[in-house]
Amino acid sequence: MTNTTTKYIFVTGGVSSSLGKGIIAASLAKLLQSQGYRTTIQKLDPYINIDPGTLNPYEHGECYVTDDGAETDLDLGHYERFLNVPTSQANNVTTGRIYQSVIDKERRGEFLGKTVQVIPHITDEIKHRIQILGKSGEYDIILTEIGGTVGDIESLPYVEAVRQLKWELGNENALVIHLTLIPYLSAAGELKTKPTQHSVKTLMESGVQADILVCRTEHELNDGIRTKLARFCNVKKESVIQSIDASTIYDVPNMMLEEGLDKVVLNQLQLEAHTPDLTSWNNFTEKLKNPKSDIVIGLIGKYVELQDSYKSILEAFIHAGAANEVRVKVVSIHSEFLDAQNVKLKIENLDGVLVAPGFGERGIEGKIEAIRYVREHNIPFFGICLGMQMAVIEFSRNVLNLHKANSSEMDELTPFPVIDLMEAQKLITKKGGTMRLGSWECNLLENSKVATIYNKNIIHERHRHRYEFNNDFKDQIENSGMLSSGCNPQTGLVEIVEIPSHPWFIGVQYHPEYKSTVANPHPLFLSFIKAALKYKTNKQ
Ligand code: GLN
Repeated sequence: MTNTTTKYIFVTGGVSSSLGKGIIAASLAKLLQSQGYRTTIQKLDPYINIDPGTLNPYEHGECYVTDDGAETDLDLGHYERFLNVPTSQANNVTTGRIYQSVIDKERRGEFLGKTVQVIPHITDEIKHRIQILGKSGEYDIILTEIGGTVGDIESLPYVEAVRQLKWELGNENALVIHLTLIPYLSAAGELKTKPTQHSVKTLMESGVQADILVCRTEHELNDGIRTKLARFCNVKKESVIQSIDASTIYDVPNMMLEEGLDKVVLNQLQLEAHTPDLTSWNNFTEKLKNPKSDIVIGLIGKYVELQDSYKSILEAFIHAGAANEVRVKVVSIHSEFLDAQNVKLKIENLDGVLVAPGFGERGIEGKIEAIRYVREHNIPFFGICLGMQMAVIEFSRNVLNLHKANSSEMDELTPFPVIDLMEAQKLITKKGGTMRLGSWECNLLENSKVATIYNKNIIHERHRHRYEFNNDFKDQIENSGMLSSGCNPQTGLVEIVEIPSHPWFIGVQYHPEYKSTVANPHPLFLSFIKAALKYKTNKQ
């Protein structure tokens, strides 16, 4: 048996995708963390892309960026938001990355003439990746979420790796939680267990016995259903955990606590259970549910019809809203359908506008129209990444009268490339993992609005972009009233612009939303919400 003190929890999914494995993993991790266990979560994704950085949001939702510059699955955002502990490249591994390292080893001759095979070479690489965090000594418990659904061809090597690890580590050091769906047939008026029985059986065909079932359901599971599930799926009755639909994901830790998920987990892992300290968490959910006022923020982007594409921004609004005791209603506005004629109608009643990050030309003119309107009408404005770049373009066009000002991303031949390709990007030809990524230092200008908001002079924020503010236009832009209030100390890249004469007009080249957590709502979001509330109050 491997000598280890780190405990491993694997979370698999059955019956259907989108059951919320990430939220269940994050909620359980929260309960374990709040009992004093150092906990982290990892996601294994069975697709062949090396990372989701090259994936369209239509395919995969938001791409979440870590401090160390990994482009990762959006579930890592949930892990950070729940646990308030940063994740890294080691927390997200894809099949593409696994195969790439095995193939690289093969090319280096490291397999000494052996035939390289899925078992043992790919499964060994998966097992190695699973244990990197465990062996770091930083954690007591590692939760590993296996993407996809059991029975998928592409999940098989992962399930096999889990089988081997469970055997090697022993039942007191490794357990499997299977997240499943209990559908309700309204015609029969019944909850059905059969799909779960089948998916547990599918897992068993690969030699893995689920230890705990977490059952997604729209209706309460009664005692009879719990007994039936336990009997047919070889689990103890107390290990049948109900996960009923919640009004907010932030309720799930308490729901899991009520069901005793943490207790059955700790019991099997032979760890002591304590009373979790959820005081600050409950403080947050209390405020979230009892807002004293509400505001309406327009989120302007081109993927607004997709719930997951701006996930971290929406969650950052929830954190900052709760802290301010305000309900933030976010209205999605598709930038492609916004123009000079309809902009007033769509924006005049909002209390604040956030222009979202993005890539490519589609929808940018609508973003520019919206920014013009909010700038001229003193409506709080927050631009993130492409949103900041569009604010610089709008200002250059309409205040500096550089009419064809643009980003060279959108118009390579623009006479006024106020946003231009970064020097370091000019020789890059490969698309994957080559943007300016991860955490960079930024110096804040003394007495600027951002310095007051952050209440510090030096910050670190996460980036994901190729283009930047063109310093050739800096003086001209500053002289006309748009200040560069944050710069990278090494490169001189402008990271923040603000308009001091406007009540709240800030654009940031980085992504503050990635760092907003329940425990630490982001200062810019907090301040933006405050400004929007003030704007609304003054308007009335
Ligand atoms: N497309 C822009 C760039 O590459 C902005 C990127 C973003 O919004 N994340 O610089």
